[in-house]
Amino acid sequence: MERARQILRSVFGYNNFRHQQSDIIHTLVAGGDALVLMPTGGGKSLCYQIPALVREGVGVVVSPLIALMQDQVDALTQLGVRAAFLNSSQDAATQRNVEQAVRAGQLELLYVAPERLLMPRMQELLAGSRVALFAIDEAHCVSQWGHDFRREYQQLSVLHQRFPGVPRIALTATADQRTCEEIVAQLDLGDAARYVHSFDRPNIRYTISEGNNPRDRLWRFMEREHAEDAGIVYCLSRNKVDQVAAWLCQRGRVALPYHAGLPEAVRRENQARFLREDSVIIVATIAFGMGIDKPDVRFVAHLNVPKSLEAYYQETGRAGRDAQPANAWMAYNLQDVINLRRMLGETDADEQFKRIAHHKLEAMLGLCELTSCRRRALLAYFGERLPEACGNCDICLHPPSTWDATEAAQKALSCVYRTGQRFGVNYIIDVLVGKQDERIQANRHDRLSTFGIGADFKASQWRHILRQLIAQGFLDVDADGHGAVRLTPSARPLLRGEISLQLRQLPARETARKAAKSARPVIELASADQVLFEALRLRRLELAREQAVPPYVIFHDSTLRELASRRPLNDEQLRGISGIGEQKLARFGKEFMAVIQAQTDAEREA
Ligand code: ADP
Ligand code: ZN
Repeated sequence: MERARQILRSVFGYNNFRHQQSDIIHTLVAGGDALVLMPTGGGKSLCYQIPALVREGVGVVVSPLIALMQDQVDALTQLGVRAAFLNSSQDAATQRNVEQAVRAGQLELLYVAPERLLMPRMQELLAGSRVALFAIDEAHCVSQWGHDFRREYQQLSVLHQRFPGVPRIALTATADQRTCEEIVAQLDLGDAARYVHSFDRPNIRYTISEGNNPRDRLWRFMEREHAEDAGIVYCLSRNKVDQVAAWLCQRGRVALPYHAGLPEAVRRENQARFLREDSVIIVATIAFGMGIDKPDVRFVAHLNVPKSLEAYYQETGRAGRDAQPANAWMAYNLQDVINLRRMLGETDADEQFKRIAHHKLEAMLGLCELTSCRRRALLAYFGERLPEACGNCDICLHPPSTWDATEAAQKALSCVYRTGQRFGVNYIIDVLVGKQDERIQANRHDRLSTFGIGADFKASQWRHILRQLIAQGFLDVDADGHGAVRLTPSARPLLRGEISLQLRQLPARETARKAAKSARPVIELASADQVLFEALRLRRLELAREQAVPPYVIFHDSTLRELASRRPLNDEQLRGISGIGEQKLARFGKEFMAVIQAQTDAEREA
C-alpha cells in the first residue's frame, strides 16, 4: 500500500484516497476480486489504474465506450503512464504495434472493447503475456434488465476460467439490487469483495420549477450562474433542440445541437467541440450523453420533464463529475406534462408497459411537485436513506410556503364534475369566478351551484391551482386534443373530505424572488485571482490545442483555481497543488508558473 500511496502522489498528484479507494486497491493488489458500485465522478478509475501500476504486467480494461478510449489513453499518457487501446477504429498496422508492445511487456494499461477481448487472437496474446488485472468497466451492461445491455459482456466469465490467478474488478455507477446480482452471477464474482458507495451526488444542486417561458428562465439562470461554463440542455424533441440552440447562439453563447436526426459527422463534430473547447453548451435530446465523461460540465438543464426518475438522475448525473459544485436545473410547464401523458396514452405498447411507464412518469412528477427536500426523495426512490434534509436543493434553500388548499380544490373538482367533464381549464375557471359569458349561459352553467363559487380567487390564481391539481394527478387532461379535464379516481377522497391538500403558495414574480446563492466553486477566487484563473485557462486551451487533447486532460479547473489562489512559483510549491504529479510538473510547470509570474508582476505595477 505504501507503493500505491506513492503512485497516488507522484503520478496523479493527489494527497489522499477518496471513499473506499484505498480498500479496493488493497484488495486487488493482494490478488482478490472486487465489485464496485460508486456514483459517477466518485473516482472509479483509480481503483484499477493504481493496482495495474503496482502489480507486474499489463492491466486490461474492458469498456464498451470506444469513443472514450482515445481520451482515456491521452490522459494517462499525460501522466507518464504507458497506456494504449485496441479497437475497431484503428488500422491493422497500429493494432499490430499495440499487440507488439503488449507482448514485449511495455504497457501498463490496455483498453479493449468486449468483443475484441473475446477474439481468439486477443486471448492468445494475453495468454502469452503477463496480465496484472482485468477491470470490467460499465459492468451493468451485463444485465438484460439494464438500459445498456451488451451481449458480449455475458461471455466475460471466460476470463475467470482462462486466467484464474488474475484479479478482476467490475465497476458501475448504475445498478440496482437485481442488476448487481446479475453482475455477480454472470461474471462469476461470487467471492468478490463488494464495495457499495452512496449514490448521492452532494455537489449537485437540484432545482425544479414550473411556470411559463422556461426558455427565458433558462437564460436568466445561465447568465446568473454559468456565463462562462460548459453545460448540457436537454429538450424532448429534435425540433425544440434546433430552436433552442439557435436561440442561444443569437444571444451570444456557443450552443450546438445534438440529436439523432443530424448527420453522423455533425454529431461527432459537435461532441468533439464540447469536449475540446471551453464554455460550449450542447443542446440535445436524450441521445446525447452515454459515455461522456467530461468532468467539468457545470450544469445540466432540462426544458422538459424527463420520462422517469431514472432518466432524470442519469442525465443530471453528467454534471459535476469533478466533484465541484454544479447545477441540475429544470423548468417545465403544464403543457409538457399534458403532452407526455398523451404520448404515453397513444403508444402501441402493451398495457403492462404503459402501466409501468405511467407509474414512472408519476414518480417524476411527484419529484417536481414536492414541498420537501428533493435529494432525500430522489435517493429514497433508489433505496437509499438520507438522514437529514440536504441543504443543497431549491426546497432546502428556499422552502416554499404552502397553504391548505383543500376547500379550493374541492370547489374546482366539483365544478369540473358538474359541468360534465367536457371542458378545458379556461372554461372551468370562467365558471368558478362567475364570468358573464354567452357560452356558459347557453350551456346553462350559470345556474349551477358552482357558478361563481370561486370568486374569492382571481383567474390567474385558479389557473395555478388547477395546474397543480393536474400535475398531482387529481385531474386528467383528455388525450383527444380538446383538452377537456376529467376527475381521476384519486379525486374522490379529496372531494369527500377524507384527505386534505397542501399546495405551494402562488409564486411571487420571478424578479422579486430572493436571488439564490449561486453554486460557486469550492475555492472562491478574489477578483485578481479570477483574472489569473482566466489567463491560466487560456494557456491551458492553447496547450490543449497544440497537443490535440481536451483541456481537462492537461489540468482540471479545480487545479487551475488552486494555482490562481496559491500562486506557486517553484517546483516544491507546485507539488503541493492537487492534480499535479511529477510528469505534469515536468511538462507544464514552467508554462503555468510563467503565467502566474506575469500576472503577479502586472499587479505590482498597477
Ligand atoms: P468515475 O469513473 O467514478 O466517474 P473518475 O475515475 O473519472 O470517476 O474520477 C472523477 C474525478 O475525480 C477525476 O477527475 C479524478 O482524477 C478525480 N479523483 C479520483 N480520485 C481522486 C482522489 N483520491 N483525490 C482527488 N481526486 C480524485
Ligand atoms: Zn434538499
